[in-house]
Amino acid sequence: MEIACLDLEGVLVPEIWIAFSELTGIEELRATTRDIPDYDVLMKQRLRLLNEHHLGLPDIQKVIAELSPMDGAVEFVDWLRERFQVVILSDTFYEFSKPLMRQLGWPTLLCHRLDVDEQGKVVDYKLRQKDPKRQCVKAFHGLNYRVIAAGDSYNDTTMLKEANAGILFKAPQNVTEEFPQFPAVNEYAELKAEFIKASERSLAM
Ligand SMILES: [Mg+2]
Repeated sequence: MEIACLDLEGVLVPEIWIAFSELTGIEELRATTRDIPDYDVLMKQRLRLLNEHHLGLPDIQKVIAELSPMDGAVEFVDWLRERFQVVILSDTFYEFSKPLMRQLGWPTLLCHRLDVDEQGKVVDYKLRQKDPKRQCVKAFHGLNYRVIAAGDSYNDTTMLKEANAGILFKAPQNVTEEFPQFPAVNEYAELKAEFIKASERSLAM
């Protein structure tokens, strides 16, 4: 039995915080873990900025609803779900990703959660666990699944290593160079071909 694990941002949908920063014009929200490596410091800054700009969860979701999955992503997910059980493993939050998951047809998503008060103010966040993507792959192995995983960035590499087969998709050059053991592709057609190659079953395109 095989499971396909996919990263979300950069693989199926745009980077949510960067797109959100562009749509709202709040430049400081562009910061990612590349600028502030400590995720806790980064998230605290993001929550402070949201509150300073009086953006509650309903406002945030309205902005995110203007975003669309990447070109070809919906068709790719449909293709994959015909052939594998598909689970999306992401470091995003359910509340943020909701408008995009609706457009993807609600595939299974394992990620983190926000704490929101009755007025819609985002007061805190809850990470599900440490190294969550790798922990998921380990758990699927414990359930006797073979795992094929695809992601685009550093936070995916422990998942790709743990998987039976890992694929880099639209990864920046520094990541593809640092992890030459993973095939690196940039188009959904190529990603389909890598899934077919990595699968133990014969899968028709
Ligand atoms: Mg990503």
